[in-house]
Amino acid sequence: MAYTYDPNNIFAKILRGEIPCNKLLETEHSLAFHDIRPQAPSHVLVIPKGPYVTFDHFALEASDAERADFVAAIGQVCKALGIQPGEGGRGYRAISNAGDDGVQEVPHLHVHILSGRSLGRMVGRPD
Ligand code: 5GP
Repeated sequence: MAYTYDPNNIFAKILRGEIPCNKLLETEHSLAFHDIRPQAPSHVLVIPKGPYVTFDHFALEASDAERADFVAAIGQVCKALGIQPGEGGRGYRAISNAGDDGVQEVPHLHVHILSGRSLGRMVGRPD
C-alpha cells in the first residue's frame, strides 16, 4: 500500500505560509521551527519541504539532494541550539513518530529535537 499525502495537514499549511511558525532555520529542502506545545525547554521540529508522510517514506522515496539537505538541516539545528555533545553542549533527543503505533499526530515527516533538560529513559510506559 503506497503512502497518501494529505496536502491539508498543518505542516503543509506552514510550508505554504498559510499559518505562521516560529522559524529557526530554512534550507533549500527543509524547514526547522519551534513546536507550538514544547515538551522540553527547547523543542524544535525539522521537516522536509517535500510531501513525505513518515521517516521511512522519506528515506525510501526522497531524492539524494533532499535526504542530504534534511540530515544537514538537523545538524545545523543542533549547532544553532548549542546542544552538540561533541562541542560542549549537553545533548538532545531526536525522535520521529510514525503511524498508529508511533502515535503520529501530523502526517508530514518531522523530527523532534528535544533539549534543555535531562530527557529520562527513551520510551515511557503506555498511558
Ligand atoms: P507528532 O505527534 O506527530 O510526532 O508531533 C506533532 C507535533 O506537532 C506536536 O509536538 C505538536 O505540538 C506540533 N504541532 C501541532 N500543530 C502545530 C502547529 O500548528 N505549529 C507548530 N509549531 N507545532 C505544531
